Amino acid sequence: MTTTHDLIIFGGNAGGLSAATLARRAGLERVRIIESGTVVGIPDVIGEHGLDVGYGETVTAIDVDTDGNLVVSTGRQTYTAPAVLVAQRKSAVDWTPSVPTFSGERILVDRIPESPNDVDVLVVGHTDHAVELTAQLADQGAGVVLAAGPMDPSLLSPMAEALLQKIEHERQATLLYRSVPTRISEVDGLPMVDFGDRRTPDLQFDHVVFSSGRHALSPADVGATETAVASGRLWFMGEEDETADGIPTAPSWRVGRDLLERCFPDLELPAPAPSAERRREFPGVIEELRREHYNATITHFEPTHSDLWVLRIKPDHGSVSHLPGQYASLGLGYWEARIDDAVDPEIDERWEKLIRRSYSISHRIFDDNGYLANEAEADELEFYIVLVPPTDDNIPGLTPRLALKRPGDRIYLGPKVAGRYTLAPVTDPRDTVILLSTGTGEAPQNAMITELLRKGHRGPIVSAVSVRQWADLGYINQHRELEERYPNYHYLPMPTREPDVPKRYIQDLISNDVFATEFDVKLDSESTHVFLCGNPAMIGLPTDVDGELTYPEVTGVVELLAARGFTLDHRNQRGNVHYEEYW
Ligand SMILES: Cc1cc2nc3c(=O)[nH]c(=O)nc-3n(C[C@H](O)[C@H](O)[C@H](O)COP(=O)(O)OP(=O)(O)OC[C@H]3O[C@@H](n4cnc5c(N)ncnc54)[C@H](O)[C@@H]3O)c2cc1C
Repeated sequence: MTTTHDLIIFGGNAGGLSAATLARRAGLERVRIIESGTVVGIPDVIGEHGLDVGYGETVTAIDVDTDGNLVVSTGRQTYTAPAVLVAQRKSAVDWTPSVPTFSGERILVDRIPESPNDVDVLVVGHTDHAVELTAQLADQGAGVVLAAGPMDPSLLSPMAEALLQKIEHERQATLLYRSVPTRISEVDGLPMVDFGDRRTPDLQFDHVVFSSGRHALSPADVGATETAVASGRLWFMGEEDETADGIPTAPSWRVGRDLLERCFPDLELPAPAPSAERRREFPGVIEELRREHYNATITHFEPTHSDLWVLRIKPDHGSVSHLPGQYASLGLGYWEARIDDAVDPEIDERWEKLIRRSYSISHRIFDDNGYLANEAEADELEFYIVLVPPTDDNIPGLTPRLALKRPGDRIYLGPKVAGRYTLAPVTDPRDTVILLSTGTGEAPQNAMITELLRKGHRGPIVSAVSVRQWADLGYINQHRELEERYPNYHYLPMPTREPDVPKRYIQDLISNDVFATEFDVKLDSESTHVFLCGNPAMIGLPTDVDGELTYPEVTGVVELLAARGFTLDHRNQRGNVHYEEYW
């Protein structure tokens, strides 16, 4: 049987679907998609745009008939049309990840795990295909992180770009735009991913899926005759523009538009999206950008003082479930006003983009009835954030914009990320737990302290926090109240710039045995867990060169604890010193 169409597209991936919907919007009635699988890349768009799909068919031959139309055979059917787009792509046989990794069933290329429901998966890639794999996994219930560095969303096909925006908006996956893994090692049989970036602490997954990007098919792959190729109406979706052999090829972000302009010159195509520069001048664009990108509302914004805030955020979609100590990501657009008069570098190029940063999830300590709060039952998340001032070396992006926000304002909240800084290693309720922080590094400690006390932890718990002034202690009253109620809890705030308080740093607490002298708490490496959060100089992680550890010049807590027999909880080594660095 032969059917007649205006345009045939082989490949129901995001690029093929983008070309099909553009053709339909431009007025072509009979657009047929041929998909070799049983499902297209973005199933929702089929009904939405009235697309016609033949599933389970593969193109075996393309020729030209006596009327000059292209004739496409699939083994099951024959189609004729004045133009054909081959959007289908193929994986290279010998493709290997460019990141050092181990091999095995946990590491996959261009395919998703068999049962993705409820497992944590990292997708690595920055093309349409990486977005499709992410969407498939999210759809099937996986917790997905897409490491998309160096993705430029404007180089995705329009459908992949829209899909990515939807995934983000609905908090179905975490997108790391700048990050790429630098190493993947096997820890307890699972992939542990190091991003080589302190802003993205190591994360452990059940599977890692690499998207190879895949290659364009060639005329031989679809059995195209020389006459079909010479017609100039058989197009391929590829990485480049026109190939050396004169085969019409264009990348996914504009293959549909190029094909329609050349093969159907009389069609009136919908105007392309305006450039960022032009859009910026449109009235109402800021409201539009906020609607596009933000997915949560600030419900509470309480300044501890003008530069330090406790805020609560309620997402429109998805859950806020997390373990005490973990972090989420918050974002605001570069289009938002700043509190200072610094000028962001490259603001013109970035103006429409989001600035995202990681934030530890803090915790109310008491609920409205004065009981220990249980945020597992809440529908919002609490954060504790300080304004970072501009310096000669750095123009901070997010906090000077957050400074102008108030309850009711909208914000971007990323989905849950499984940070490793949690209470999981504290398995004995008699253990000593010491929590040391600088500034807002108190945030995750608040969540962990509340959890320990709620669960009836019996061993000593000490929280010490180093700040500049008394005024920098957003939760001091609640901690004092906790001390009253729980004899095993001690709070040690340490302002360094108050005239009547002798200056001492977190490191001094260990060097001078302050826990023993002030609270009668022994720092015994056999029965103590230490949690360190905040300024990396306080933590003082060693660098490891060929197994040789070198500690920083300024002695940090890790070095002092190592001398007392403690071990660092680090990637593939379980230990009793746990840390979260803020930069
Ligand atoms: C896992 C994780 C959790 C984090 N949790 C928190 C949190 O709960 N609260 C919080 O305020 N920040 C937190 N941060 C830091 C946060 O992600 C941002 O770096 C910070 O808010 C500055 O963002 P910015 O865009 O304004 O400035 P950026 O341009 O990102 O400036 C970064 C610089 O600001 C300084 N800086 C960053 N964070 C702090 C801080 N907390 N206190 C003092 N100086 C800082 C450092 O010099 C750093 O180099 C966390 C970081 C990580 C990696």
